[in-house]
Amino acid sequence: MSTAISLSPEILAKYEPVIGLEVHVQLLTETKAFCGCANRFGSAPNTNVCPTCLGLPGALPVLNRRAVEFATLASMAINCQVRETSIFARKNYFYPDSPKGYQISQFDKPLGEHGWIDVPTPNGIKRIGITRLHMEEDAGKSIHDGFADSATRTYVDLNRCGTPLVEIVSEPDIRTPDEAYEYLTRLKEILLYTAVSDCNMEEGSLRCDANVSVRPRGQEKFGTKAEVKNVNSFRFIRSALEYEIERQVEILEGGGRVIQETRLWNANEGRTYSMRSKEQAHDYRYFPEPDLPPLIVSDAWKAEIARHMPELPEARRARMVAEYEITEQDAATLTATRAFADQFEEAAKAAKSPKRVANLVQGELTSRLKLKGLELEQSPITMKGIALAADLAEEGKLSSKQMKQLFDIAFENGEDFAVVYEREKPQQISDSSAIEKMIDEVIAANPKQVEQYRGGKKTVSAFFVGQVMKLSKGQANPALLNELVIRKLEG
Ligand code: ADP
Ligand code: ZN
Ligand code: MG
Repeated sequence: MSTAISLSPEILAKYEPVIGLEVHVQLLTETKAFCGCANRFGSAPNTNVCPTCLGLPGALPVLNRRAVEFATLASMAINCQVRETSIFARKNYFYPDSPKGYQISQFDKPLGEHGWIDVPTPNGIKRIGITRLHMEEDAGKSIHDGFADSATRTYVDLNRCGTPLVEIVSEPDIRTPDEAYEYLTRLKEILLYTAVSDCNMEEGSLRCDANVSVRPRGQEKFGTKAEVKNVNSFRFIRSALEYEIERQVEILEGGGRVIQETRLWNANEGRTYSMRSKEQAHDYRYFPEPDLPPLIVSDAWKAEIARHMPELPEARRARMVAEYEITEQDAATLTATRAFADQFEEAAKAAKSPKRVANLVQGELTSRLKLKGLELEQSPITMKGIALAADLAEEGKLSSKQMKQLFDIAFENGEDFAVVYEREKPQQISDSSAIEKMIDEVIAANPKQVEQYRGGKKTVSAFFVGQVMKLSKGQANPALLNELVIRKLEG
């Protein structure tokens, strides 16, 4: 395993990295971009294919309306201007998994342009420009391993041919590997909110190529860039960029020149390798796709698509902070996915204290989900259950210890909170005289702490609450206990 390299402050004082990212995103349409074949991951090889996506002679492409709507929605979500007329173009190159010999893409008239997204950095919010969002189709897959004869053969699965993609190209505005990581995180979050893609990196629904160069600080002209491909997690992209920046700085420090090339990230070794230099790069001979008319997205259609725009994560976070009096940190966790945020809001509206719902989600729920490796959707405790738990805590009917126990039982048995609470309904002592008796006992046993309290150290009351709670085996009514402890200590 590689360990992430950290860039030294000396290097960063002398050189400035420049980074631009190209992100490919598969759209979640039922069918492919230009034919009626199923757009589905994981089918038996070469079963979702037809003459069009196999590129057989005479077969003609027909553009998928849904793919255009998704691409337009994505463009709008990242603040791109949507071109009324965009043009499909042929990008010519041969790969064994691309039988047409060209890819249908967009070239000089892409669907979306001039966008941006805002990204948090240690120095505040930074706006990263987005050059373009264009539509294109995916290629098939060459399979180099997993077969007995893999040493001598490569297999090809053409199911992915013609899957609708958007490519989102950033301006070279990114300056650190951390900013790149944040940009990708935000971009993915926005795309997930719009539901145009599942952005599943393991299945290749979201893929990223990273372009990076370095220049001496103060120099205006960009340095020569390398493009790193084949990186399948955001963490690895950050590591690959750190590695590349160090590599390029070392070359410059040694008096050498960085050459423009495509490099591959090797996660096992934690380094990049040269794949091909730009001298061998393709001239794609782009020309307008003769089999497709210009794509027209009229204002009326745009308006119809815009009606499907959800509240986006950033706006949602701001609203939730104001509406539920939760912290930015709370809001960041609670809006991680749209489903999570929806569920939280449902619970927050049902509960007496939204802040308590947020605390339970952050404190009790997410930690247990993580421990069990579960997604929120798989949680045994529903948000209704969380709302009930929050109310019980708010009314002082459950101590925090009891709460933890009930959450543990729910996760052990795979039961919702209400079920566990009804069955286990913890004994609670709400009889003042019983609690007072225990307080007296604790006070008598701890004269030093009593002295401290009466000497002005009021925080010591928490010590007494804790001791009595222990004595009561966690069963004292917390609200009542608090009140009585103060009264006794003051008295
Ligand atoms: P290419 O023609 O090699 O594909 P593009 O101009 O299309 O290059 O840019 C591809 C990506 O590389 C974009 O995200 C862009 O922001 C980024 N980029 C361009 N020049 C540089 C550079 N000198 N250093 C780092 N990134 C760059
Ligand atoms: Zn097909
Ligand atoms: Mg390019």
